Amino acid sequence: MDYGFTEDQKHIQELARKIGREKIMPIRAQLDEAEEFPWAVVKTLAEVGLFGIYIPEEYGGLGFGNFENCLAVEELSRYCIGVSVSFAASGLGCYPILLYGSEEQKKKYLPQIASGAKLAAFGITESSAGSDASAIRATAVRDGNSYVLNGIKQWITNGGEAEIYSVIAKTDKTKGPRGASAFIVEKGTPGFTFGKKEKKLGIRSSATRELVFEDCRIPAENLIAKEGMGFIVAMKTFDQTRPGIAAQGVGLAQGALDAAIEYARERETFGKPIIAHQAVQHMLADMATQIEAARALTYLSAKTADLRSKDLPKVSAMSKLFATDVAMKVTTDVVQIFGGYGYMRDYPVEKMMRDAKILQIYEGTNQIQRNVIGQYLIKESARS
Ligand SMILES: Cc1cc2nc3c(=O)[nH]c(=O)nc-3n(C[C@H](O)[C@H](O)[C@H](O)COP(=O)(O)OP(=O)(O)OC[C@H]3O[C@@H](n4cnc5c(N)ncnc54)[C@H](O)[C@@H]3O)c2cc1C
Repeated sequence: MDYGFTEDQKHIQELARKIGREKIMPIRAQLDEAEEFPWAVVKTLAEVGLFGIYIPEEYGGLGFGNFENCLAVEELSRYCIGVSVSFAASGLGCYPILLYGSEEQKKKYLPQIASGAKLAAFGITESSAGSDASAIRATAVRDGNSYVLNGIKQWITNGGEAEIYSVIAKTDKTKGPRGASAFIVEKGTPGFTFGKKEKKLGIRSSATRELVFEDCRIPAENLIAKEGMGFIVAMKTFDQTRPGIAAQGVGLAQGALDAAIEYARERETFGKPIIAHQAVQHMLADMATQIEAARALTYLSAKTADLRSKDLPKVSAMSKLFATDVAMKVTTDVVQIFGGYGYMRDYPVEKMMRDAKILQIYEGTNQIQRNVIGQYLIKESARS
């Protein structure tokens, strides 16, 4: 489809596709099997500057926006979302600083993230606080020119591998969601350690670990924005990054469809390629249609982010919900098209189906996205 991309956008798309095809595709099964973090690919992405796509040039980035970032994430995701999430999660860790950081924080941290010299990560989830993020128990207590952090963040993508962490902790337990604040914590700070790497169903090359804070003292200037703004920082960050999760879904589904078409042209039953059976063609047609609809909504949400439109929370949630449900359905149907071979690790599609499931869970489950959209509709109707 022709979305009228600029030359720069076409270049970013082609560059990411080339890296996906040449650097990710040949090793994705091995990374998955070994549950190995994709450092070689991260290094390549850093060398070509892709970590800085959405970061302004004055802070060492390429100065493009959310839209261009989504194009890169989509292309990388065609080949492996275990790898692409390691790239995208650095953006999740970066956005709190980009959106709400002080000039000093931006000057210090954004160039390191833009160059890919350091990965970032974001930690809000705890063992008893996922969807209900306001239930977090981690605390940050002001002590002179420092804050002292205590608590455990669970299932943090890039945990242990990243150097820069945006972390949400309670500065006032009596104030509920208004008592949370956002902080930058650097790897290596005394009192900050990591749990074991989790063993997962999918995206097995990505690192998912606990962040453990035990009397971890950080400078007071590492507070992002003001005390009490932690949830605003987190929610505005998710508005920006959910189009990227949608882009993961679109890319993953497209990669699965590509594999299905190739296979269906080669595999023969009853004396003809299975693609000649109309039932198979209809499955492919439905997949292609769903993917294109998901892509259009994803691009709309990324553009909405770049336009700073008030509709962003709604559109961002819609794109994450729709594109990730499409990815789950398409990857499941692609395994069906492969028949028994689809169930075997010799082919890439069982991994795609395993990988797809996380997209419906992280950065807010798809039930939570429906809640966000529903609440937005109520607000809209009250205004009109
Ligand atoms: C691999 C992986 C990587 C992750 N990476 C990160 C990360 O980098 N940073 C980070 O902070 N977190 C991360 N997470 C955490 C992730 O965002 C949470 O798992 C997610 O938000 C869901 O929270 P939960 O698992 O506690 O589920 P729960 O909140 O316990 O929900 C359980 C079920 O109940 C449903 N439910 C809950 N409340 C409602 C409601 N009000 N209405 C309707 N349904 C509801 C949910 O949709 C879900 O189906 C990661 C998780 C995983 C598995």
